[in-house]
Amino acid sequence: MERQVGNTKLVLVRGDITRQKVDAVVNAANPSLMGGGGVDGAIHRAGGPAILDECRRIVKEIGRLAPGNAVATTGGCLPASHVIHTVGPIWKGGGRGEPQVLKSAYVESLKRAEELGCRSVAFPSISTGAYGYPLGEAAREALEAVITHLEAGSPLEEVRFVLFSDTVLAAYETALTRLKP
Ligand code: ADP
Repeated sequence: MERQVGNTKLVLVRGDITRQKVDAVVNAANPSLMGGGGVDGAIHRAGGPAILDECRRIVKEIGRLAPGNAVATTGGCLPASHVIHTVGPIWKGGGRGEPQVLKSAYVESLKRAEELGCRSVAFPSISTGAYGYPLGEAAREALEAVITHLEAGSPLEEVRFVLFSDTVLAAYETALTRLKP
């Protein structure tokens, strides 16, 4: 599924984010930036040790990464030149600022991609795995945040959501269909 938003093409696909030929891929990291399970583990495995080396340097400099923030490293041996590491919220029922933190994770990641001069960026479904954010709500917040940012004008040519299963892809397609053009 695709939608044009301002100058940017927004694309939803099923796939593996580690195989995407884009300028930057976003990692759903944890605050330690030391790797983990899910998409984080997959990105470090596929991208090699250069990514973790830079993560260590960043943590030495700024400490742990707060939820809603984003930092960039090399893409190592991924097809993507850059990995943008962001931390989504852990779901605690929705009344602890989770939607704001989730939106911030997407918007801060888009800002890092724009600062790097990227033309294309790929996102996974942040917070909907180990962090337990309900899928339908996460899909809506994610798409709203990205669309609002792109509507204000962005040099990005493509923002691609790379969803790991048919269920996740369907949730994002439903959410995008419900958002008015
Ligand atoms: P979080 O801790 O933010 O919840 P997870 O990595 O546990 O992050 O899950 C986030 C989403 O990433 C889930 O939908 C999961 O299925 C998906 N995922 C796992 N591996 C990959 C991959 N290689 N490419 C894209 N998405 C992936």
